[in-house]
Amino acid sequence: MQGDKITDVGANVAIPSGAQVIDLGDATLSPGFIDAHTHLTGDYSGNYNERRLKGLENNVSDEAYECIPRARATIEAGFTTVRDVGSRITNVHDFLDVSLRNAINRGLVEGPRMLVATHGIGATGGHFDPFAGFRDMLFGREPDWTDGIADGPEGIRKAVRYEVKNGADVIKAAVSGGVLSLKDEVDTPQFTAEEMKALVDESHRLRKKVAVHCHGDQAAREAIAAGVDSIEHGSFLKPETLTLMKSKGTYLTPTLLAAEYIMPRVKTYPPAVQAKAQAAFDARSEMFRNALKIGVKISFGTDAAVFPHGENAKEFKLMTDLGMSPIDALKSATASDAELLGVSQKLGTVEKGKLADVIAMPGDPTQDITGTERVSFVMKEGKIIRNGPATPLPAKTAARDVLEEMGADF
Ligand SMILES: [Zn+2]
Repeated sequence: MQGDKITDVGANVAIPSGAQVIDLGDATLSPGFIDAHTHLTGDYSGNYNERRLKGLENNVSDEAYECIPRARATIEAGFTTVRDVGSRITNVHDFLDVSLRNAINRGLVEGPRMLVATHGIGATGGHFDPFAGFRDMLFGREPDWTDGIADGPEGIRKAVRYEVKNGADVIKAAVSGGVLSLKDEVDTPQFTAEEMKALVDESHRLRKKVAVHCHGDQAAREAIAAGVDSIEHGSFLKPETLTLMKSKGTYLTPTLLAAEYIMPRVKTYPPAVQAKAQAAFDARSEMFRNALKIGVKISFGTDAAVFPHGENAKEFKLMTDLGMSPIDALKSATASDAELLGVSQKLGTVEKGKLADVIAMPGDPTQDITGTERVSFVMKEGKIIRNGPATPLPAKTAARDVLEEMGADF
């Protein structure tokens, strides 16, 4: 490679004189991994209520500094690109994800290339409503489109325009309820078909793809019909809905790791969340197997922030345990995600002319997929980020405190 690009690939490539040779020994090279569903500006992996209180106490600048080790942990784990699908600080309009993306692009912070969604768009009282669960008017107002909360087709168009104006690369919306929110049912639709049509139409006019948070089947059917680019989570999707996805070419981002992390700790979440988490977890394995059978396009996305940042690669084993072939799982995090993100011209494969995002892991991940969890070399755009042991995380992070208290096997 030269500069930030790959100039040639192969077993018999002539090494130009004066080139730096990096011998990685018995390792497998891969294009840098892509995670299509992260939240680098959040960390909900510790105690739910403690985190909720911290979100009200922290200054925006506190939150910003906390992003730095998260971004580093993510890239050191081999994830050189992320689609970061939602960032919101209660009752504050800062665009933390845009600033983090820009700081990484300027080389101020080490981290993955980010495609960001800013606030994400949702309905009043829905999964994204930041005031739901608090006393009415506690914050002196109802959230509005400047917070990503919009109702009616025109309101949603305005929210899309506002997010693009402020730096969104991709549009995220919550079209069904969610697990970690307090006032919505996990599978109810939250937008009408007209609202979804407006969401997709306005986003696509502005050449932004649309990723929708969706557990429920009805909401998914309407969102797929409206032309969204990916369904995130998809826990309760029925085979007929998955068949519709297959025919429309809609991606499924299953985020298996999120529920996997929550379930052993489910008793530490509020009761309303416990029941929703259980229901989503019980449904998702069958849904994922059906999606494989039907041949739905699968993207790799984890929901990092629900679990500690940097553990993203654990998703691979969950995918293969449910029947995906290791090579398809590896492709989901490389070539498939590059296509979903619209960056396949420059990323997703190790190929002449593409950006030099290259990682290495020991052994053969098609024989032992957990090799993906032991990435030891990371290069992004020709720059070596890591060659050997990972940088230790700061002594105290919220996630670690709680994990230590609970013990590793809780
Ligand atoms: Zn998420």
